[in-house]
Amino acid sequence: MDIQANIKAVLSELPEGVRLVAVSKFHPNEAIEAAYSAGQRIFGESKVQELTEKQLSLPKDIEWHFIGHLQTNKVKYIVPYIAMIHAVDSYRLLAEINRQAAKVNRVIPCLLEIHIAAEESKYGFTFDDCRAMLREGSWRELKNVSVCGVMGMATNTDNEEQVGKEFETLHRFFGELKNDYFLDDDRFKEISMGMSHDYPLAVKAGCTLVRVGSKIFGERNY
Ligand SMILES: *Cc1c(COP(=O)(O)O)cnc(C)c1O
Repeated sequence: MDIQANIKAVLSELPEGVRLVAVSKFHPNEAIEAAYSAGQRIFGESKVQELTEKQLSLPKDIEWHFIGHLQTNKVKYIVPYIAMIHAVDSYRLLAEINRQAAKVNRVIPCLLEIHIAAEESKYGFTFDDCRAMLREGSWRELKNVSVCGVMGMATNTDNEEQVGKEFETLHRFFGELKNDYFLDDDRFKEISMGMSHDYPLAVKAGCTLVRVGSKIFGERNY
């Protein structure tokens, strides 16, 4: 694996305004260091324990993004340093992030995970649940989180038309939320979508963050 060349190849396909989250989960520190030498600073992880170990031993100017499902009882471990939490899928989780962030005097950027795929999933708000949560309004009192946008995962299929449509749906939903709740909040600006096999479609549909792992670091051995 030539990690530096892979990073450059992916970056060359991203227009200005789209940032790369290099998804380094299950890959060792050496792989992250190789990407870091190529100038990459944003890394995505999905396990709290693994992230905690990496964060302790790797350069402090790395911007760590938590992209996986986050259990409320583990929020406290990452809140002191995490740069963004991508997959907030309940008010309860948002409130717990806020509670822990207040203790360390931080404001944590969070994205609302929206379920856009045709596949069944335990995770992610439905469009209606997300609307209901925002309409209810309690989130406005959470001063130690900032809701910065939405995140989604398309169906795992070769059908590009379907994947493209799902990404466009998420882009439209972002626009709806922006218009209804965040017009005067410049922090609400992120659409996190696109992985190794589908990020060009996400770019076409107007994402601002792509989360690319295996295309950079190679296959993971789970
Ligand atoms: C693992 C993961 C990715 C990256 O997947 P690749 O196919 O390796 O690019 C992106 N997003 C989430 C939420 C993930 O868990």
